[in-house]
Amino acid sequence: MNHKWPINSLTDSTAIVLNCIFAPMNLEAIKAAKLLLSEPQKIVIVPHKNPDGDAIGSTLALWHYLKNQGQDATIVAPNDYPKFLKWMPGNEQILNFEKENTQAKNKIEKATVICTLDFNHLGRVGQMEKPLEASSATFIMIDHHQAPSDYAKIMYSDVSMSSTCEMVYNFIEFLGDTDKITKEMADCLYTGIMTDTGSFKFRSTTGRTHRIVAEFIDKGAQNTQIHHRVFDTNTPGRLHLLGCALKNMVILENYRTAYITLSQEELDAHEFQKGDTEGFVNYGLTLEGIIFAVIFIENKEEGIIKISFRSIGEFSVNEFARSHFEGGGHNNAAGGKSDTSLQETATYFESLLKNYEDQLNP
Ligand code: 5GP
Ligand code: MN
Repeated sequence: MNHKWPINSLTDSTAIVLNCIFAPMNLEAIKAAKLLLSEPQKIVIVPHKNPDGDAIGSTLALWHYLKNQGQDATIVAPNDYPKFLKWMPGNEQILNFEKENTQAKNKIEKATVICTLDFNHLGRVGQMEKPLEASSATFIMIDHHQAPSDYAKIMYSDVSMSSTCEMVYNFIEFLGDTDKITKEMADCLYTGIMTDTGSFKFRSTTGRTHRIVAEFIDKGAQNTQIHHRVFDTNTPGRLHLLGCALKNMVILENYRTAYITLSQEELDAHEFQKGDTEGFVNYGLTLEGIIFAVIFIENKEEGIIKISFRSIGEFSVNEFARSHFEGGGHNNAAGGKSDTSLQETATYFESLLKNYEDQLNP
């Protein structure tokens, strides 16, 4: 399988690497990555806070690859993640920065290389931000979100990509090593592509995405079992919480918008566990005519309302989240937060919509 990258920007031969924003890795960056990884390194691999399938799948796959190359590699996750992701091969090796703080800090302090996957600014790792900023390691970024910061020496940033897992496949291909993709890696990468593409239905899903996934199945990825393990793990509490969320849904036809609120009290009443609200926001978009869906979830412990935004078509929820809710993400999927109450946040959100009337009714 051939993936093309631009090789026309080799003007400054003294640069160790060239940052390549909004483009596949260039030749110089690939050479730098190869050189770096040809020496024994102490590598820490980091997903974003509240890691999802793509974050865990991509970090685990890269971890397997680097370990198989004889590297000393460790994944440090900023915090815990849902049970439906805890079956992936290598999962038990992941250090939780909140729970295994001393060990995790130690790994970060000693790291010579830090790979940050599925995020692009250090504010996305919560409490881990400070130790990462203090590190003198060489940073490698592999990510598909908008507006990357410039902390990484080797930067593979491409917003057109379906998922960071697809990019990890490309990264391994750049290094000439696709024959070293094992069944374990294929299972992890399949999972992240599947979750970030909404089971291969979002716009970012290309023919190449399907060809890569086909290669994973050929390498032994257990596609049927993976879907089952990720999506068919409902508890009665979660299904009842979904019922509550759907009951709370507010539909604003004039703005082609639907939003859901969930209070801490409602979460508690349904024995909420991490990950239980995953995917709820998408139900708004299943309504005919609705192109903007939002969920506001109260988190009393953190004192915030966590928000997920989704859209269909051109309306950029990345820009909306960035402008009004300290967030960001992709054009059609983004997140953010609010420091005011659940009701105040929802009222404020509604008040913003009149400014977007034209964009929401193109
Ligand atoms: P979700 O709504 O599923 O939490 O996130 C949707 C997308 O937006 C994901 O790609 C996620 O990484 C990104 N995202 C979620 N929350 C935030 C946030 O607070 N800030 C930024 N910059 N991105 C976010
Ligand atoms: Mn992702």
